[in-house]
Amino acid sequence: MTSFATRAVHAGYDPQANANAAVPPVYASAAFDLGDAERGDALAAGEIDGFEYSRVANPTVDALERRLAALEGGVGAVAVGSGMAAVTYALMCAGEGGGRIIAPSDLYGASVDALADFLPQFGIHTDFVNDVNDLDEVASKIGPDTRAIFAETVANPSTALLDIAPLADLAHRNGIALIVDNTVPTPYLLNPIAFGADVVVHSTTKGITGHGNAIGGAIIDGGRFDWANGRFPQFTARQQVISDDRAGVWHSFAGKFGNEAFIKRIRIKYLRTFGAVASPFNAYLTLVGLETLPQRVARQVETARRVAEHLTRTPHVIKVNYSGLGNTPQFALVGRYFPRGVGQILSFLVDGSAENVRRILDGTRLFSYVPNIGDARSLIVDPAHITHREVPAAARVAAGVTDNLIRLSIGLEDADDLIADLDQAIAGAY
Ligand SMILES: *Cc1c(COP(=O)(O)O)cnc(C)c1O
Repeated sequence: MTSFATRAVHAGYDPQANANAAVPPVYASAAFDLGDAERGDALAAGEIDGFEYSRVANPTVDALERRLAALEGGVGAVAVGSGMAAVTYALMCAGEGGGRIIAPSDLYGASVDALADFLPQFGIHTDFVNDVNDLDEVASKIGPDTRAIFAETVANPSTALLDIAPLADLAHRNGIALIVDNTVPTPYLLNPIAFGADVVVHSTTKGITGHGNAIGGAIIDGGRFDWANGRFPQFTARQQVISDDRAGVWHSFAGKFGNEAFIKRIRIKYLRTFGAVASPFNAYLTLVGLETLPQRVARQVETARRVAEHLTRTPHVIKVNYSGLGNTPQFALVGRYFPRGVGQILSFLVDGSAENVRRILDGTRLFSYVPNIGDARSLIVDPAHITHREVPAAARVAAGVTDNLIRLSIGLEDADDLIADLDQAIAGAY
C-alpha cells in the first residue's frame, strides 16, 4: 500500500474512467442513463456496478468514499450529508430494534443529545459511563441487548484520548461492535480500524475538508465484525430490498454481503430511505481538501502544541487541556496511538468571571469566534454557551465544559501571530 500522503491525493479516483479529468469532476446529475433494458435490469438487480440515482450513489461522492476508505483502512465507506447523519446512521444501524449502546458523556454536544434524548424515542437506549477507558465500568454495563460501544477517539473539547485496543477486545469478547468518532484527529493522525475499531464515523466538515466550506460526514466499515453472531437480528433477517421475489430468492444483509454487511446496510437502508446524501459539490470540496490533509494537520499540530505550551505560562490561565502536552494522566496513550500528535483542538480555563471570558472572546483579532473546528482559520469559542449549550448541566460538567472554558481550533496562521493575539486578548480582558 502506498503512503498516506500519496493516497490522500490519488486513492479512489481513475482519470481514465472520467474523460481524463485530472481533478475529480462534479457530477451534477440526479440520475444516470441505464443504457439498454438488459443493463438496466442487471444494474437494478445489483449484478453489475454502476450509477442509477444520486440518492444512493454518485460518481463524485463515490471517489470521496473510496478515498476515505483507503485512508482509514476500511473495506468501504458511505459519505453522508453531515457528521451527525454519520453518527446517527451508524448508531441506529447497530442499535435498531431495541438495542442498547454504551457511551461516555464527554461527546460532541449533538451526539449526547441524540443518545440521551432522541434515539430512545426510536427504542435505542444508551448506558452512559463516566470513563470509557475503565474496562470494569464498561463491562458492568454490557447486557443481552447491548449492541455497540460508541466513543470519540479524541474528545472535543477535553482532548481526552480513547484506549482503543483493550476496549475493542472487550467488545469483541462479548460480540458487540466498537464504533468510534474519529473527527478530531482525522485519519492522518489515527486509524482506529488498525487498533480494532469496527466502524469509524467522521464529520468531514472539520479537518478532512479543512477549509470550513462544506458540511459533510462519512461512515467507514472496518469489515471484520461478525454481524451474524446472533445479537443483530436486522442483519440476519430476510430483506425485500436485497432479494428477488420473482425468482423466490431471499437474502439477509449478512448472508448476501458478508464482511461488507454493515456498510451495504447503511447505503441500501439508511441512505436510500432516510436520504441524508452528500451533495456532489460538497464531495468535490472535500476531495480537494483531502489532498493537503497531511500537510495541514502536521502544521496545525505543531502550532497547537506551541500555543498550548505558551498558555500554561500565561497569567489568568488556570488549566490547559491538551493531551499533546504531556501533562495529562493519559500521556502514555499518546505514544501508542498518536505518534504524529493528537490534533489541533485545545481548551483552557481562565480565572475571573463570565465577563472576563466574554472580553477574551471579543478581544481576539486573528481568532474567529466560530463554533467549528479543523478550519484553515484559527477559531475560538466558549463551549458551555455555544457548542454544548443543549447538553444537560451534569453531563456538561462531566465533559469538563464549565463556564470558564475556552476552546481553540488552531489553523494555518503563523504560530507567533496567534500567540501574540491570545496574549493581548487575555491581558486586555482583566
Ligand atoms: C462537528 C462534529 C460532529 C457533527 O458533525 P457535523 O458535520 O457538524 O454534522 C460530530 N462529532 C464530532 C466530534 C464533531 O466535532
